Amino acid sequence: MHDPMFAFDTKLADLVFDYCRERLSLDPVPLDFGGAGARFDEVLAGLIAEGRKDPAAVLRVFTEQLATSVVSVDSPRFLAFIPAAPTKAALLFDMVVSCSSLQGTSWLEAAGAIAAENQALGVLAELAGLPPGAGGCFVSGGTAGNLSALLVAREQGRARPAGVAGTPRVACSDEAHSSIGKALLVLGLEPLVVPTSGHRLTGDALGSALAGLSPSELPVAVVATAGTTNAGFVDDLAGVAAVARAEGLWFHVDAAYGGAALFSPSERARLSGIEHADSFIVDPHKWLFAPFDCAALLYADPPAARAVHTQSAAYLDPIHAVGEVQWNPSDYAIHLTRRARGLPFWFSLAVNGTAAYADAIDEVVATARAAARLVDAAPHLELVCEPDLSIVLFRRLGWERRDYEAWAARLLAAQVAFVLPTTFEGESVARLVFLHPDTGLDIVNEILDSTA
Ligand SMILES: *Cc1c(COP(=O)(O)O)cnc(C)c1O
Repeated sequence: MHDPMFAFDTKLADLVFDYCRERLSLDPVPLDFGGAGARFDEVLAGLIAEGRKDPAAVLRVFTEQLATSVVSVDSPRFLAFIPAAPTKAALLFDMVVSCSSLQGTSWLEAAGAIAAENQALGVLAELAGLPPGAGGCFVSGGTAGNLSALLVAREQGRARPAGVAGTPRVACSDEAHSSIGKALLVLGLEPLVVPTSGHRLTGDALGSALAGLSPSELPVAVVATAGTTNAGFVDDLAGVAAVARAEGLWFHVDAAYGGAALFSPSERARLSGIEHADSFIVDPHKWLFAPFDCAALLYADPPAARAVHTQSAAYLDPIHAVGEVQWNPSDYAIHLTRRARGLPFWFSLAVNGTAAYADAIDEVVATARAAARLVDAAPHLELVCEPDLSIVLFRRLGWERRDYEAWAARLLAAQVAFVLPTTFEGESVARLVFLHPDTGLDIVNEILDSTA
């Protein structure tokens, strides 16, 4: 059969591989623009029709009109939201996963891919200090990871001897990521919001919030954050873990961004207490240099997760056939079919070695600290808080929200940087998120100089 849609076409392959090769070799990649207001309807008009189109022409629309309207999240000048800095090894292997249609749903059909993903998960579990036997799977993002973990927490809570009075609750701070609120909404849970001190959830505050509650009124879980997304604060994980253990709550750690610090011998202590987690997530697509979309979800006791997440259907019976050692990623999260999205991270870890990860993370933390000192040294700037990890908040004296917004727009227009203001304690401030090891102090100086 030689349907052209399925035939290997050398010219088409060259076209796409040439583009990929060129993109991979750009150093640095251009920052580009978001393209807000662009007339994409005109650009795209008639592109999909009944007949075939010249691939070169379609690719040209992409490279010239569409790709340039996406701010490059992997540019060292991207310091908004949470940037990305995938290694070349991880990016290349992502192409392997795509070209091989590698899926990782069940051991029966994909043991080789899953074994490698589990090796990478094992590295994370060991760095975190989870007990032997810990495991999980890679999901699409921190949001899917938090949701999947909290479903297990809810089911465990419901099964506790005291039961649950009323709507089950989950304790978290008001600094918890928005995806936690979303997960609670999906799961029919309510938050028990614990006040923070210095923006951190502490064991003491959790203990006070629980005081006087009867066993059935206790929340089913507590969520601590290792690296809040707005300012990078790490909660008192050890203190929260101790209270969670004493009260029998599921302890979930959202380390989507800050979990990368596990690799750094000098920063690891900040995450002390994570070893007691019943579940935690970390996003390799954030600070562990993997491409989208990749989040690691780990459980201390995988059978508890399996009991909740396993899907059963007549046609799926073969993947659950007992006997051989097997591990179905579909048993550990709210997904079934999945791409083997952990493999780019696995390949890069193997090729580069874990020491390279530690070095890259340390370098980024050092740059963030140096940036904080540069802010201190500028008379018209003030550091808002000392960075725990790699997020630097600062104020420009005399500026209001619209000044920060105009500044951000100027920097993007001039292709100096993509930065955005945020709100901290009710005040608009500038926010720089360091994540790319190539974001040097030269770039920081350009950004800070532009506030003069
Ligand atoms: C980014 C982030 C999330 C959400 O992760 P996605 O991968 O964007 O779904 C959750 N929690 C924290 C702390 C984050 O930084």
